[in-house]
Amino acid sequence: MPTEIQTELENAVNTRRNFAIISHPDAGKTTLTEKLLLYGGAIHEAGSVKARRAQRKATSDWMEMEQQRGISITSTVLQFAYNGYQINLLDTPGHQDFSEDTYRTLAAADNAVMLIDAAKGLEPQTRKLFEVCKLRELPIFTFVNKLDRPGREPLELLDEIEQELGLQTYAVNWPIGMGDRFKGVFDRRLQQIHLFERRAHGSQEAKDTAIALGDPKIEDLLEEELYYQLKEELEILDEVAPDLDLELVREGKMTPVFFGSAMTNFGVELFLKAFLDYAQKPEARNSSEGEIDPTYPDFTGFVFKLQANMDPKHRDRVAFIRVCTGKFEKDMTVSHARTGKTVRLSRPQKLFAQDRGSLEVAYPGDVIGLNNPGVFAIGDTIYNGKKLEYEGIPCFSPELFAFIKNPNPSKFKQFNKAISELQEEGAVQIMYSTDDFKRDPLLAAVGQLQFEVVQFRMQNEYGVETLLEMLPYSLARWVAGGWKALEKAGRLFNTLTVKDAWGRPVLLFKNEWNLQQVKGDHPGLKLNSIAPVG
Ligand code: GDP
Repeated sequence: MPTEIQTELENAVNTRRNFAIISHPDAGKTTLTEKLLLYGGAIHEAGSVKARRAQRKATSDWMEMEQQRGISITSTVLQFAYNGYQINLLDTPGHQDFSEDTYRTLAAADNAVMLIDAAKGLEPQTRKLFEVCKLRELPIFTFVNKLDRPGREPLELLDEIEQELGLQTYAVNWPIGMGDRFKGVFDRRLQQIHLFERRAHGSQEAKDTAIALGDPKIEDLLEEELYYQLKEELEILDEVAPDLDLELVREGKMTPVFFGSAMTNFGVELFLKAFLDYAQKPEARNSSEGEIDPTYPDFTGFVFKLQANMDPKHRDRVAFIRVCTGKFEKDMTVSHARTGKTVRLSRPQKLFAQDRGSLEVAYPGDVIGLNNPGVFAIGDTIYNGKKLEYEGIPCFSPELFAFIKNPNPSKFKQFNKAISELQEEGAVQIMYSTDDFKRDPLLAAVGQLQFEVVQFRMQNEYGVETLLEMLPYSLARWVAGGWKALEKAGRLFNTLTVKDAWGRPVLLFKNEWNLQQVKGDHPGLKLNSIAPVG
């Protein structure tokens, strides 16, 4: 007989789906998010996510910085219900605010939705985020957006995904026409054509008529040319494309593909329904004690993101924790694996954009925000019961590098304290020159915003004004085998050797071409774009 808590956890896990959207700016992430929330009944009129964002008052220095730049540093987790599921959408910061947090959020996700602009196909930020998903073997669902605009041929887009990402594709629905002639999509699951009616900017749910493929009514509703084109394309798909293999989807080797238009609401609900059928529920995770199933009765979780100063009245931070197992309850006491301390989890925050209310309980797959009295760092595990630690979150290749200088010698102590705390917190990666005369720390980031945040916080929290000296590098590679392997490789050209915070050698390159050159000259040298977990 399963115990009461086991049944409760099993129910929670079976009905929970969690995902993050990976995309390039402007592909339509905000629009798609709004439409999904609309179906989930979480908002009544799409457009309100943006509107609320604009209304938000500058309540702190931090928020002021967000306001000045007109961006959202605060990434939230949106929870909504649909067809009996609890869905957690982990919002990845992704625009001008691209940072390591974008990568780390994927460490807390169970599924990824790859959103592509039909006219543009795969774009750089999407490719980078895809690499992180691949590393984690996350199931990837593809939504090709903006079909109401002229775009590239659907078959060509599938081919690009297969060739460039090495992902097999399975089209779950197929577009009928494109641009002005976009008439809807064909659902291959139920063999039905969905004809959509445009409404003003799709601000309400679109009217959707479903007709079976052989129904004679189609002739009146669809131009002959589009009908025959559809039939022909479907035949091609049936002949050449492999069948949907959910095993491969779960392993991140095959992506179910959907076509639609987030703005006009075409295909969004079909996508949501199929996604919920195919998506991976919260799964077992690797830990120091082996694989831990989400229905493991004790509460465990890990920190994947830290956010400074969301609450202007406090200087402390919010730690975002992915619940992995057990049941989280407000005010519970847990152990902190890294420090061995006991921590009371008070004032948990429910992370819904509109309503940052207090949270009472959370289950595996959920994310909670905790006011962090400075005890948490990225990757930390908290647990109840038997001690265990989840695998850490790796450092990803930074793309921007700058020496940070303290022009005021009397601030030496504060400067060093700030650097070490910000590094520990994971706000930025810190590296050092191998030249003994260059003592200034080297900031390494994936987005410009990280530099601004570091400088801003050093000034505001530590009272240290700093100067940045940008360096002309754009790639970092960790040397497998450490200093010995590097020494063995001999002299390297067109690269700068530095060391990371753990003293390990890292090579910086100006561009991909230089990297390839060094690789070509030194075939024995193994270079990694991801740091071993420190
Ligand atoms: P994000 O940067 O990925 O969050 O993209 P947004 O959701 O802000 O969308 C970028 C732009 O594309 C906006 O002007 C949207 O109105 C527009 N857009 C989003 N989805 C669609 C779509 O399906 N069709 C068309 N024509 N435009 C869209």
